[in-house]
Amino acid sequence: MISRPHVVIVGGGIGGLFAANALIAQDLRIAVYEQAPEIGEVGAGVFLTPNSVRHLQRIGLGPAVEKWGARVGQESRYFRHDGAPIAPVQVSDSSGWNATFGMHRADLVDMLAAALPAGTVHTGHRCDGFEQDDKLARLSFANGASAEADIVIAADGIHSELRPYVFAASQPVFSGSVAYRGLVPHERVPDWPTDRWQMWLGKGRHFLAFPVRAGKLINYVGFLPTDEQMKESWSAPGDPDVLRQAFADWDPRIPRLLSEVKITFRWALYDREPLPAWTRQRLSLLGDAAHPMLPHLGQGANQSIEDGMALATILARADRATAPSALTAYERLRRERVAQVQRGARENGLRYDSAYSDLGVRDAEIAAHAAFRKRLYDHDVVPEAQAAAAALA
Ligand SMILES: Cc1cc2nc3c(=O)[nH]c(=O)nc-3n(C[C@H](O)[C@H](O)[C@H](O)COP(=O)(O)OP(=O)(O)OC[C@H]3O[C@@H](n4cnc5c(N)ncnc54)[C@H](O)[C@@H]3O)c2cc1C
Repeated sequence: MISRPHVVIVGGGIGGLFAANALIAQDLRIAVYEQAPEIGEVGAGVFLTPNSVRHLQRIGLGPAVEKWGARVGQESRYFRHDGAPIAPVQVSDSSGWNATFGMHRADLVDMLAAALPAGTVHTGHRCDGFEQDDKLARLSFANGASAEADIVIAADGIHSELRPYVFAASQPVFSGSVAYRGLVPHERVPDWPTDRWQMWLGKGRHFLAFPVRAGKLINYVGFLPTDEQMKESWSAPGDPDVLRQAFADWDPRIPRLLSEVKITFRWALYDREPLPAWTRQRLSLLGDAAHPMLPHLGQGANQSIEDGMALATILARADRATAPSALTAYERLRRERVAQVQRGARENGLRYDSAYSDLGVRDAEIAAHAAFRKRLYDHDVVPEAQAAAAALA
């Protein structure tokens, strides 16, 4: 009978909650500590792709994704700013599996939280201290509470409190772009199609729209240049008129959609250089804490779900003594793949913002990018994580 490790996850966002579900499916003892007074997310969308949907299915959430998501299909397109089509969007893996869904972030977080046993998540716990030795890791919280664990997973986002315990503190890199995001009820734009992901590309800016919540809402994101280095935050309200003005002379479908925007939120876009290490003994990073990336491949949440599945698969056979070496194996498996996605997101941002003297070259790259997407979507972390776990045993 092996003695199973006790795992504490700091951060109850998409990454932390998915990891908790995947670890519980491996019979591990889990606690999640979240700083917010309750689990929840803001009003915006997230795009789920086959490389994470296969893991949501594995933890039993396939039907919930189908119910709460909005599947986007073959009519998905990239357009020039005036509406001239550029290329289709890759919406399936190489086998043709069309598991691409727009989701309301709150729906995804709610379904991940609801799938956990009662008492797993401790809200109102902001972690403010960490120490570890040969036997245990210890956490302290701003409310005076403390916790012990065999291993700790820091899923506490781009500003991770715990990352400096793994690697020297560093500043996030500002991209020079700000995203205006929000949702429009479909009933206000009844002609807007609910079966496709659409993006318009112009000089220094781009615009994205896709359906969420079974097509009841349309999620939009307008990416604009800015020299204002605001702290990235969901709570920074934006001026809908600034957004409308920025896209006023684009494809008329965009001004029409934006005419229905009442409230919008601004989010300055930051990433980090790939970190050279994610793990120190009993502590590992996951999701944006490990690899914050620009949203130009729509992969931040998808990669954090891959992280959680890799971690759970590698820890499946670990005991209290071997758990720290399992963390090293998890990092080895994930770090280079995610670094490629981080770099790819930066490169794709240049395409989306038309930073090309010859737009014909840009358009050809956009069309050819389907091959990269297929490789991304085909990837399944489980077989290689199983091999890594077997090598540890
Ligand atoms: C404009 C934009 C569009 C995007 N679109 C997509 C997309 O379409 N698809 C996609 O896959 N990704 C997308 N992303 C990225 C995605 O949102 C993130 O990568 C993902 O949410 C990261 O999840 P996470 O759980 O690692 O971090 P977070 O969601 O940041 O969660 C961290 C959690 O930790 C908590 N926390 C923080 N500090 C502490 C502490 N000290 N103690 C306790 N709790 C703490 C926070 O309150 C939060 O709940 C987008 C990002 C942007 C900016």
